[in-house]
Amino acid sequence: RTFAGMKARMVPKRPPAAPAIHPAGRRPHYDALVVGAGFAGSVLAERLAAGSGKRVLVIDKRPHIAGNAFDHHDAAGIMVHRYGPHIFHTNSDEVFAYLSRFTRWRPYEHRVLASVADKLVPIPINRTTLNTLYGLDLHDEAAAAAFLAARAEPREIRTSEDVVVAAVGQELYETFFRGYTRKQWGLDPSELDKAVTARVPTRTDTDDRYFTDRHQAMPLHGYTAMFEAMLDHPNITVQTGVDFADCDVRADHTVFTGPVDEYFGHRFGPLPYRSLEFRHETHDVARYQPVAVVNYPSPDTPFTRITEYKHLTGQQSPRTSISHEIPRGEGDPYYPVPRPENQALYRRYAALADALPDVSFVGRLATYRYYNMDQVVGQALATYRRLAARIEPASVA
Ligand code: FAD
Ligand code: UDP
Repeated sequence: RTFAGMKARMVPKRPPAAPAIHPAGRRPHYDALVVGAGFAGSVLAERLAAGSGKRVLVIDKRPHIAGNAFDHHDAAGIMVHRYGPHIFHTNSDEVFAYLSRFTRWRPYEHRVLASVADKLVPIPINRTTLNTLYGLDLHDEAAAAAFLAARAEPREIRTSEDVVVAAVGQELYETFFRGYTRKQWGLDPSELDKAVTARVPTRTDTDDRYFTDRHQAMPLHGYTAMFEAMLDHPNITVQTGVDFADCDVRADHTVFTGPVDEYFGHRFGPLPYRSLEFRHETHDVARYQPVAVVNYPSPDTPFTRITEYKHLTGQQSPRTSISHEIPRGEGDPYYPVPRPENQALYRRYAALADALPDVSFVGRLATYRYYNMDQVVGQALATYRRLAARIEPASVA
């Protein structure tokens, strides 16, 4: 049966719990099975349940909801992000309004320093970066622009090397980008799409914010609490610690948010994903570093950045918790690797995905896109709108 052919029905207050193993022919039935309880899966589950009255089972193979945005209190009672710093920012009023149904916010504008030449300087590169690094007194935007223009090497922009060298020249590129990118991706910037380093702008003013989006804020009680509110609906059943491969239920529609190549048994070969190791530590000092994130572009350190979480959350404590990020080739898939050959391989999987009307592929791993959280929410809301157009209105919404 197709999702479009689903019968609208009265929704029981509490859907039946799904036992792990079921006698043949007695597998529980749901209107929708959502694989993955991150942003992509949780938004779709919430919309299908609350917007269309569907009975939804959400599974995640991890022991928790919230996907990579998962935060929790560590042994020292400090709220940390298990999978590295997640800073919410968006220009989409729709996405911000949607998430605001499930959380209040703590205003927070992200600032990052880079550790170079025994100094901590703002990144993105701005006028302060140039003055501090070179002992200059570039006093206005025109002076900073002239300084950069004298070094910039105009060229056709195809790769992540081109983007930076064309804007700031070879020396600043090597200081801030080459080493960091080689560590982060295991590739030279010349081997990566321009979109990767284009995420980081160059500025001639003294704005030292990492993002300039209209909405910048952290969920007041954390991401996990926000996801709990999203998934707290009588039509939604959540099972963590359950892999799709072991999930024995029937569903009219499946929303898959894991790696798309995994769904199709890697039949065209594995899509490359970059992994990270997060080393979490607590220190007996109230403050470890001046800002939430310090980047380490030098090839001399194995990690790319250190995050101190109290800056993000505003939590007060005499102790503080930090994490180092050490890029890895193996491990949980965190980043799709944007380069033409990977995109070509993804397109082959996307063609298989497009041929399955009863499965929606949504999110960073399932659509192989280097998306921020707000982009995933936007993609999930758009997917819901398309699905909702196929579903007849439910009797209980
Ligand atoms: P995920 O959060 O990865 O959720 C997918 C879920 O599916 C996972 O929980 C996984 O366990 C589950 N799953 C996969 N396969 C299966 C299976 N077979 N069976 C059951 N479950 C399965 N974005 C920002 O906007 N701001 C930031 O500051 C930011 N910082 C980031 C820092 C790091 C280190 C990383 C890695 C990402 C960062 N992001 C940031 C991006 C953000 O994490 C993603 O945009 C967002 O989490 C993607 O949501 P998703 O639902 O697509 O994927
Ligand atoms: N980057 C860099 N040096 C920096 C910051 C970023 O070379 O100090 C490059 C690197 O390739 C990184 C990309 O720019 O992967 C995008 O940076 P961003 O901070 O957006 O990465 P994310 O937060 O997604 O890991």
